[in-house]
Amino acid sequence: MRPLLVAGLTCLLTAAHAQAPTSIAGILSGISEKRIEANIRTLASFGTRNSLSDPDDEKRGVGAARRWIKAELERCSAGTPLQVAFDEHLVESGTRVPRPTKFVNVVATLPGTQPESRGRTYVVSGHYDSMPSSPVDPGKDAPGANDDASGTAVSMELACVMSKHRFNATIVFMAVAGEEQGLLGATGWARNAKEKNLDVAAMFTNDIVGNTRDADGNVDRSRVRLFAEGVPAKSPLPDNVLEALRTGGENDLPTRQLARYIQETAAKYVKDLRVDVIWRRDRYLRGGDHFPFLDAGYPAVRFTEPVEDWRHQHQDVRVENGVQLGDLPEFVDFAYVAKVTRVNAAALASLALGPSAPTGVELENLRLENNSTLRWKANPEPDVAGYRILWRETTSPAWQHTKDVGNVTRETLVGVSKDNVVFGVQAYNRDGHASIAVYPRPYRPLAR
Ligand SMILES: [Zn+2]
Repeated sequence: MRPLLVAGLTCLLTAAHAQAPTSIAGILSGISEKRIEANIRTLASFGTRNSLSDPDDEKRGVGAARRWIKAELERCSAGTPLQVAFDEHLVESGTRVPRPTKFVNVVATLPGTQPESRGRTYVVSGHYDSMPSSPVDPGKDAPGANDDASGTAVSMELACVMSKHRFNATIVFMAVAGEEQGLLGATGWARNAKEKNLDVAAMFTNDIVGNTRDADGNVDRSRVRLFAEGVPAKSPLPDNVLEALRTGGENDLPTRQLARYIQETAAKYVKDLRVDVIWRRDRYLRGGDHFPFLDAGYPAVRFTEPVEDWRHQHQDVRVENGVQLGDLPEFVDFAYVAKVTRVNAAALASLALGPSAPTGVELENLRLENNSTLRWKANPEPDVAGYRILWRETTSPAWQHTKDVGNVTRETLVGVSKDNVVFGVQAYNRDGHASIAVYPRPYRPLAR
């Protein structure tokens, strides 16, 4: 809803102020199922988007598809600050790369408007490449309507709608290349980001978000799965992870905090789609473009439909025993993709409108006591209004208690024993947008 303006004041607005303040409800109302459907159908119409197909063909193949994605993003965001560019990565060879191949991401960047937040970057992606039964067959049709024109359409719709609004932090909307060849486009971008020390505060991939009927006929349009890793499965574990493990923080590393945040934001703004968080990196035998981000140390999660039908993923288009196989648009539920887009939009907007997660969050361990004292550093953003302490029983997946403590950097909770609960601290700003929560490290002064 647009804010009400007193009629007499309207004439005082200059062009610079003509932009209505960004509201999450306003963003959600701009998301169009029709445009999402049209984009999925167009992506499927390139015949194949296999990474090994002819990049120079004007009508068919991966090159035609990415040139169309770029042009469509430019068209939809004309007159906005969205910057659309190709991001190329040459891969010489690989298990699914028989000859040197250019993997080209389409990257649309919406720069943040708050100087203190501009470097903080949120990434949302879907992969535009596709495959038939064989990942190295560029000739056969591979419409990839669900895998992953659906996720690409989510990214494109978010870019189209959100570019018309302003956010404190930067948002990067990507149509990623080479997922089926080994996550190569996402790997190239995440690696560059890490080298440049980019502050990627969160990454979401939407991969296979369009089917609502499984092979046995079970239909579910009411949920979306959100895969969220706990402790990274790598050795050696980073020191900050080990430190969290020593105090029972295995479920409170940034990716799980991000998943909790997305689930809560979706529950608040999108009533007709429940986010089911799954405490796992991905499904068995599967992977996605969030992996290279996780491997680079960034919080990253994957959205996927609740029920899958593998007759319509990674299959040559054909009829067998009267059954249509292949990843065709007729098996995509466009209204469902629009709901998934709204969940993404609510979470992304809330994060990018909000402040950064507090730093230096510590739980004091000075003596044995029944109270709990937390401390943190003041946030850099000028519009931060205060901090919120959250806590829950150690066996509860979601926060159970919150206390807004105002604009302070230390607070004691009397009668709440740190031995029995898990704490988190969020920052929030004057508009009420909050950061993800941060798990406190134990603070104990060194013995003198
Ligand atoms: Zn996929």
